[in-house]
Amino acid sequence: MDLFEYQARDLFAKHGVPVLAGEVIDTPEAAREATERLGGRAVVKAQVKTGGRGKAGGVKLASDPEDAVAKAGAILGMDIKGHTVHRVMLAQTADIAEEYYVSFLLDRTNRTFLAMASVEGGVEIEEVAANNPEALAKIPVDAVEGVTEAKAREITEAARFPAEIADQVVDVLQRLWTVFVKEDALLVEVNPLVKTGDGRVVALDGKVSLDANAEFRQPEHAALEDTAAANPLEAAAKERGLNYVKLDGGSVGIIGNGAGLVMSTLDVVAYAGEAHGGVKPANFLDIGGGASAEVMANGLEIILGDPEVRSVFVNVFGGITACDAVANGIVQALELLKSKGEDVRKPLVVRLDGNNAELGRKILTDADHPLVEQVDTMDGAADRAAELAAK
Ligand code: GDP
Ligand code: MN
Repeated sequence: MDLFEYQARDLFAKHGVPVLAGEVIDTPEAAREATERLGGRAVVKAQVKTGGRGKAGGVKLASDPEDAVAKAGAILGMDIKGHTVHRVMLAQTADIAEEYYVSFLLDRTNRTFLAMASVEGGVEIEEVAANNPEALAKIPVDAVEGVTEAKAREITEAARFPAEIADQVVDVLQRLWTVFVKEDALLVEVNPLVKTGDGRVVALDGKVSLDANAEFRQPEHAALEDTAAANPLEAAAKERGLNYVKLDGGSVGIIGNGAGLVMSTLDVVAYAGEAHGGVKPANFLDIGGGASAEVMANGLEIILGDPEVRSVFVNVFGGITACDAVANGIVQALELLKSKGEDVRKPLVVRLDGNNAELGRKILTDADHPLVEQVDTMDGAADRAAELAAK
């Protein structure tokens, strides 16, 4: 989960990383008093989960409270790379002498954590990496040792931070590492980390991405979720513990077991859909190993509840969960939905293969549900589901 800048800033403050005071508002008028509280001047910053806000006009200096109202009015509602600005943060202005870059991230390729730092911050770091790679220090961080003072000093020296602020940077790096570890982050990035005119080091912008796999031990993080932006179907699926992702512009609902099979099902449906006027898959849904009737019913309910779905493709390769169990799950799920008063009218194309496929197919044949159709091959079933969606 990516955080908004103001949320990253809150986490920084919680762990003692120096930041400037700020307030989040969602109407231009609120900028007046907020700016007064901040000392009469403020930086107005769009809160959207994308970078390059400065370049896009989403970061503006306001010289007084009235100016802040005008600037907030200009930024609220702005579209930045497809993200609408619903909130702005007003922050205390900083007198910037120099802009730096620091980050910690998970380096999957090298199976380690990585620190990156540069005294050429403020600009997009991809540009520095491309045009001036030696200006970007990259230091692996051992997961067990972490960022000790010695490691922080190594990073600071590798990036050639000025001597007069080295101690402050060493301290900031250790605190940012604490944020990274204690908050279960996958990325903690500060761009720019600045030196102010009076020689202080302050984090002026923050980007934090939290590891969703650690949600169970981070109860406080639930409050950071942007529920307003969440897709309602995805939110409902999450509540039921389903692995569901809504896809734009598709009309074939997809249910499968195993992420790999579901991913390839999306490809096969998109390919088959080309012959039917460009029909596309409507979602990703992996019901995992134990495809019980309840899980199947939950999955079907979510998918059938998507108004864009016109047909459903259930693609199961029986492994540990045998096809007869899945077939029974489908039959019971349809009964369960009927007993809940849900009017199921969208056709289901089912392809069962693998462990106990014959028995599974027989169960569905015997059940003879008017909306369920069986096709024995994945390509054939994808084509039929696309054809039904195109009707
Ligand atoms: P981004 O463009 O989305 O990364 O947004 P940033 O928060 O990094 O802001 C972009 C740039 O605006 C920074 O690199 C700074 O140069 C400038 N900026 C941000 N806050 C302040 C501030 O308080 N005072 C001044 N003078 N400039 C600021
Ligand atoms: Mn930035």
